[in-house]
Parts: sequence; structure tokens; C-alpha cells
Amino acid sequence: MAYVDIDKTALQRRFVGISADEVRHSLGKDRLSSADFMNLISPSAAKFLPQMRKKAAVLKKMHFGKTVRIYAPLYVSSYCINNCLYCGFRTGNKSETRKRLSLEQIRKEAVAIKKLGIDSVLIVSGEDPIFVSLGFLETAVKELKRIFSYVSLEIYPLDVEGYRTLFKAGAHGLTIYQETYDRELYRHLHPSGPKRDYDNRLAAPARAAEAGFYNIGIGALLGLYDWRSEAVSIAAHASWLMKKYWKSKMQFSFPRITPIEGAFKVPAPVSEKELEQMMLAFRLSFPECDMVLSTRENCEFRNRAVLHSVNMMSAGSSVVPGGYASPREGKLGQFSRRDARTVKEVAKDLKKLGLEAVFKDWDKCMGL
Ligand code: SF4
Repeated sequence: MAYVDIDKTALQRRFVGISADEVRHSLGKDRLSSADFMNLISPSAAKFLPQMRKKAAVLKKMHFGKTVRIYAPLYVSSYCINNCLYCGFRTGNKSETRKRLSLEQIRKEAVAIKKLGIDSVLIVSGEDPIFVSLGFLETAVKELKRIFSYVSLEIYPLDVEGYRTLFKAGAHGLTIYQETYDRELYRHLHPSGPKRDYDNRLAAPARAAEAGFYNIGIGALLGLYDWRSEAVSIAAHASWLMKKYWKSKMQFSFPRITPIEGAFKVPAPVSEKELEQMMLAFRLSFPECDMVLSTRENCEFRNRAVLHSVNMMSAGSSVVPGGYASPREGKLGQFSRRDARTVKEVAKDLKKLGLEAVFKDWDKCMGL
């Protein structure tokens, strides 16, 4: 796919050559091109964060009002047949015991999440195709759809038929990160398991859109590779998807690597300031798209980001299977959290910022 086969050397040369005047020019425009997007993520644009924040805040308000949608992840299984070097669930991590939830345990988790006031849930699982099979996921989605207004998925890639099955069961959102768009690094970071197939993963969002999913989330795991190159690839991938699958809405997530047991050395750390610049560039270039931020980031940063970029965030999250119903059971999480606020505390902080936490914006009466 041409949109990811980018000449990285030419790209870096282009970034270095972008002037402050070019950034100013892009900031003055109403509709931004891919060249403007590059201007806004360039090193020269780092001095323009106050102007970018101001403009992004206006666009965010125009498209999402004062609302921030809240969801919670529900981890189903910490077993995984892949060996992603940066992840606590990788098959090579023998340091912790793993857990997979039965349908009954998923129900218990759902009840515990619902008690927090959450009405939108994201099913997350390692690649565990024998236990967490398509049939199991279909049943789980149907069960969860009886409890929550909105169910979305962050699972291993499926074919169109598989996605269609889960869509019909009631899951309407899918998030799948490419992790890194750099093919060579991707091969190095995924030494074994089906996830080694870069192209299969890259085409998964399109297959989900083909199957009818309303919301398609993409992103890269920030810290693996130069963030500017990843941003260009994500933007190009999204533009292609938006053109071809215009009925689906795009969502951007910005997961930064957080420390896990086994201490993976982050190859290309992304600072808070760089992360903010990247998010602002996406808000300015894709004003109507959802932007999601998880509890990987700390509460101060999340409180800033909701003012100009982010319109969806997780809250009160547990990243351990069974962690809501039995918080003391099991320690193996996919990543570590930097924001440990409760759902109530998040909602209270949003109120102080003049924003409203929204727990439900879909209704069963719409037949969804
Ligand atoms: S990132 Fe996903 S696929 Fe890779 S080891 Fe972790 S859970 Fe498995």
C-alpha cells in the first residue's frame, strides 16, 4: 500500500527544511492539506503550541461541544501466542501467571464496570484464538450488549466475515494499532506468532469497515519509532480509509509505551510536549474525527488534552483480566497506568474544566 511506503530519509529532510513562515501559513488556513499536517508536526511548529492549542480548542468545541465520552476497557485474556517485545502479555514473558475469563467472569466484570457508571466498554484480548475464539467473542459481545449501550473491540485481526459476525452480534467499534508503520522495525519487534504478518494487520481496519463497523480506530505505539514518521503514516492511512469507507468514522489513539515488567528499552521516546504537538496537528487536520487518550497518560496531561484535542477517554481502568470484580487478583497487565483516578474523580475534574463526561451517546431504541 503506497501510503505507508514512505521514503523516510526524504521525509526527515523535508521536516528539517520547514520554516516558521510555513507553519504560520498552515495555521491560518481553514482546511489543511497533507503538506500542512507535515508543517504542524515539524520541529519548527514546536514553538507554536499556544496558537495550535487555541485553534484546536475552537474546532473541538465546534464538533463535540463540551463533551468527553468515557469508556472502560474490559480485558478478557492475558494469554497471547504473539511475542511483541514491548508487551507484558507476550508469550515469552514467563514471569507472571496469566488469566482468561469465562463468560460468567466476563458478566461479573461487566456488572462491576457498570456500577462505576460506565456504559461503553472496549473488549481487549491478547491473541488467544483457541479460548478467545470468534464464537466466544460473539457470545461475549451479545452478553455485553445487554448491559452496555456501546461495545467495541481491540482484538487480533479477523477476516471480513469474522468482523461481520461480531458487528451483527452488536460490536460497532474496532481499534487496531499498527504498532509501527516501519516494516523493518515491525519484523524485529514481532519475532514470532501470526502478528508477524505486517500486511494482514495493516489491512484489518479496512476489513472491519467493509464489514460495517461504524467506528474504526488506528494508531501507532508511540516510542517504538520516530513519532513524526509514524504521524505521517497514520494520517495517510486514515485519509485512505476515509475516502474509501466514508460511512465509517475514524478514531485516533495516542498510546505511549509505559514501563512493563521485563523492562523493554523504549527505542524512540516521545516527550509530553511532542505528544501534545502530534495530537494538536491531528485535531487541526482531522477536526471531525474522534481522538482517544487512555490511562497510560497522567491526569495533568489528560486534563490539558481534553481542552483542545481529546473527546474520548477511558477512566477507572483495570488492565488485568478480572481486575474490576476482583481488584486484588493477578498483576499481569498489558501496560502500567499513569492515571489512577476513579470514574467519579475524572467526571469531577472534567466539570471543573467546564466539560461534561458523557457515558452514553447511543441508544438501543435506534436499533443499534
Ligand atoms: S501487543 Fe497484543 S498481540 Fe502483542 S503480545 Fe501484547 S497482547 Fe499479544
